[in-house]
Amino acid sequence: MSTSGPTTEIRALARYLEAARSLVVLSGAGISTESGIPDFRSPGGLWSRYDPSEFTFQRFCANAETRRRYWEMGASLYPLLKRAEPNRAHRALAALERRGGLHRIITQNIDGLHQRAGNTPERVIEIHGTALEVTCLSCGARQDRDPVQARFAAGDLDPHCECGGILKPATISFGQAMPERETATAFADAAAADVFLVVGSSLVVFPAADLPAVALERGATLLIVNREPTLYDAAATLALHGTAGEILGGI
Ligand code: NAD
Repeated sequence: MSTSGPTTEIRALARYLEAARSLVVLSGAGISTESGIPDFRSPGGLWSRYDPSEFTFQRFCANAETRRRYWEMGASLYPLLKRAEPNRAHRALAALERRGGLHRIITQNIDGLHQRAGNTPERVIEIHGTALEVTCLSCGARQDRDPVQARFAAGDLDPHCECGGILKPATISFGQAMPERETATAFADAAAADVFLVVGSSLVVFPAADLPAVALERGATLLIVNREPTLYDAAATLALHGTAGEILGGI
């Protein structure tokens, strides 16, 4: 894609976004790679370095050694998330909210970058939770992750809550139930969208990958911005292949 100015495709994308009355965005790891956070499935992504089957929710609950490995993975990834700054794509979505018409951002990301870019927290649904907080699996108390990650660094290899419960980063792991309220709202939003924009998602993780189908069934215009083709491209009105920062930055 050229860097000399918006292409015809980007202009067309901008027109659909401008005309939207109830725009719903589904974002995935790809919107944050330009902020320096690797995605899971691209070459060099997180799953080429860590084995996802090791970190299921069931294993985390059952095994102190799995928990130690999980916090150890966090020791290298969490500082990356904390340091990351929103990029042009996040900022473009914040600008879309300011000019009106953006109803919701449903994000699979756990990095908090949409809110930091300026999107209202109430307009952002984190369907896979957040890595910036920790939750107690017994009493449900939430707290900032910094002190807990610091406890791990200081030698507490299996941090527990004051109530005695196991602490876990507030993300949704494989095998863990999706948050009910957030998931229900996300599906209702998708059903009510007139324009549904996917940014930086391979659309293979369910149930998030069902959301574009729900929007399409209700007659929404589907727009996709992703570096690689997705299974939904054929059903989309526009599918732009390139980097989210360049494409959304261009609108
Ligand atoms: P994914 O890894 O399955 O897919 C990411 C997609 O983004 C790929 O298709 C890739 O081609 C595309 N992509 C990469 N860089 C891009 C860029 N600069 N511009 C446009 N597209 C780009 O990610 P997913 O579908 O979002 O789902 C995987 C899971 O990973 C999610 O559940 C999420 O919780 C988790 N995750 C989150 C983060 C984060 O919070 N930043 C990072 C890694 C993984």
